[in-house]
Amino acid sequence: NREWHLLSRPVGWPKPEDFALVEAEVPTPREGQVLVRNLYLSVDPYMRGRMSAAKSYVAPFELGKVMQGGAVGEVVASDAEGFEPGDHVLHFLGWREYAAVSAQHAVKVDPDAAPLSTYLGVLGMTGLTAYAGLLRTASFKEGDAVFVSGAAGAVGSQVGQIARLKGASRVIGSAGSEEKVKLLVEEYGFDAAFNYKDGPVGEQLRAAAPDGIDVYFDNVGGDHLEAAIGSLNEGGRIAVCGMISVYNNTEPAPGPKNLARLIQTRGRIEGFLVGDHYDLQPQFVQEVGPWVASGALKYRETVVEGIENNLEAFLGVLRGDNTGKMIVKL
Ligand code: NDP
Repeated sequence: NREWHLLSRPVGWPKPEDFALVEAEVPTPREGQVLVRNLYLSVDPYMRGRMSAAKSYVAPFELGKVMQGGAVGEVVASDAEGFEPGDHVLHFLGWREYAAVSAQHAVKVDPDAAPLSTYLGVLGMTGLTAYAGLLRTASFKEGDAVFVSGAAGAVGSQVGQIARLKGASRVIGSAGSEEKVKLLVEEYGFDAAFNYKDGPVGEQLRAAAPDGIDVYFDNVGGDHLEAAIGSLNEGGRIAVCGMISVYNNTEPAPGPKNLARLIQTRGRIEGFLVGDHYDLQPQFVQEVGPWVASGALKYRETVVEGIENNLEAFLGVLRGDNTGKMIVKL
């Protein structure tokens, strides 16, 4: 049983020396627990936050201990009522091969209903983030022009497509490569997309959305947020989901210079956490599940194989190596 420990808190970009892959005993499940052999591990940008000591909405990872994260695996032994060997479960003890999971923290998932990895992505946490952030936080309504950054990623690609399927007047996305931009327009049905590395985001957004935007779903922060405020229409809404452009900064990033535009537009800017919106989970699965099954909503996964590559996969998310959800397959 191998597991990834955090050895020191990264300053700036995480370095391999901050982590170690450690050989550990296979845990024995206590009463009320199941022993799970992990099959798919999630790596997510928010994990960067847990590597720091700063107080946040989840506790920091502990130094010298195994890290945590979303995972799907197979029950191999059970001391919990209602769970049998052979069951598949979604749980929160990733970054390791075997986990003893309390039954109340294990959610059964059906491998026949959908591929197991999708419970970490398009039908899982990142999918719900897109759904809740767009529909609830940004109060999306038919006819809105929607801009999403990080648009080829797990959350962003789903935001754009949900907006399109729900009758957006225009969907605009930004991403970090020509290939990703092409995917947005040709496969995901975005009306326009641009590579934020090609030139100033504000100019590229104005060209892509000449009539402005009503909703901005922010995955990136920085220049993107400032550009979106600059293009915001009256009554516009900005849902702040993430700010990946600043996660490795050692100094606080400067704020947008044009906040006064929120007064003219009566614009609203609001952050949200997916953890507060799990009441929407049944509605999300009911609405988005059939779109995924029919292919109306498309998704990609970037799959990295092997527990030894878990850290590289995480760093890859920060670098933009992934298209859609980054998954580690064991
Ligand atoms: P993604 O699959 O979108 O992967 C992250 C992507 O960010 C990369 O692929 C990369 O794509 C892009 N990126 C990296 N650095 C930069 C940069 N400097 N500027 C612009 N883009 C950059 O990850 P997720 O879908 O899992 O998460 C997306 C965002 O949502 C993150 O900010 C995350 O923290 C946030 N989030 C928030 C939640 C909440 O509850 N509020 C829940 C889940 C996620 P590219 O090649 O395009 O640069």
